[in-house]
Amino acid sequence: MPTTIANIRATPVTVPLEAPLLHSNGAHWGRFVRTIVEVETADGYVGLGEMGGGGEDATRAFAGLLSYLKGHDVFALEAMRFAICNPTASLYNNRTQLHAALEFACLDIMGQKLGVPVHALLGGKLRDVVDFASYLFFRYANPEAGEGEVRTPEQLVAHAAALKAKHGFTSHKLKGGVYPPMYELACYRALATSLPGERFRYDPNCALSLADAIAFGKGIADIRNDYFEDPVWGMQQMKRLKEFVPLPTATNSVVIDFEQLAENVRNGAVDVILLDTTFWGGIRPCIKAAGVCETFGLGVAVHSSGELGIQLATMLHMGAVVPNLGYAADAHYHHLVDDVIVGGPLPYEGGAIRVPDAPGLGVTLDRAKLLQYHELFRELGGYPYDRDPGRPGWYPLIPNDRWADPNVSLRPRLT
Ligand SMILES: [Mg+2]
Repeated sequence: MPTTIANIRATPVTVPLEAPLLHSNGAHWGRFVRTIVEVETADGYVGLGEMGGGGEDATRAFAGLLSYLKGHDVFALEAMRFAICNPTASLYNNRTQLHAALEFACLDIMGQKLGVPVHALLGGKLRDVVDFASYLFFRYANPEAGEGEVRTPEQLVAHAAALKAKHGFTSHKLKGGVYPPMYELACYRALATSLPGERFRYDPNCALSLADAIAFGKGIADIRNDYFEDPVWGMQQMKRLKEFVPLPTATNSVVIDFEQLAENVRNGAVDVILLDTTFWGGIRPCIKAAGVCETFGLGVAVHSSGELGIQLATMLHMGAVVPNLGYAADAHYHHLVDDVIVGGPLPYEGGAIRVPDAPGLGVTLDRAKLLQYHELFRELGGYPYDRDPGRPGWYPLIPNDRWADPNVSLRPRLT
């Protein structure tokens, strides 16, 4: 019996976060909405995939792809790319992220059928664990418990210390672009002072003006920075910033496909490419991009666009096989209170997560949790990822000047 696709099931789930996470475009409203994808083959295998979607359910988009892929051999991955992601056809229907979730599932099935982990299909692991950064956010308090607010330098330092004690992080990322840049600079400097000898990175998601980015960059030059992540929008401004600030730059915003990567090689705007298994269309395109980066002397790291355990497994397998991984990976994972995989959330040990060695992606869907968190999705619905529940009617500009007020402690409604 051939290992061909017989069915694609997609289930939206909502898993609570410890507290709402603020970012430059809005917030994660106290929960992640993810679409869990199950690809079923004619010979009885089930492979797992996962996708985000800006707080919304992506199930209908997957349902529409079954007619394209029914009968497709899961081992024919390059063929699947052209079957649904032909770059000129994609001008009409961008399916890159859908393709990523299906690629994860096909790799999972290939590994299960062959009895090997996904990393063995991708060249073999070079490391048994992947290091992670603490990924610190400004947060609203959890509306029920009233705890978890991160707004002041003191709260940020305490939150980082608690995460370090719990998970062992030695790299720390501050997600900014929320409060005025010089306020965030004071927060970042307080963080670095509180954890001497450790490594730091700041990411305002392109919200700063060139002038603010120069002032911020000069203000952190004495800190042990991994890189200055997406301080301004666009490759040209990133390049211009380098004339004023001698820090390595990183992006997950303006180099997210091969055309942009080629342009970046030519203009030298960005030093470190943050590879996202969803944005790039799968684990395999990330590895291909890492090879281009290796050739041209660019660094790579693992990007997080929000993940449950299935997506996290794709990040671990990718991180395990890429030789030129030079930095701790990012994950939102530790902000979640639960997961949909058997055994609960994958644990951090010494700031790292072990790469799964079981066949396929090495994670199994917990059906009771899937049902529980599908019910929570049905109860709460989606949320607008690019809106802030604390500032109704607000939206940011790029560069932004409509900052939140760090002197105001808010407890907004999240539905
Ligand atoms: Mg980023």
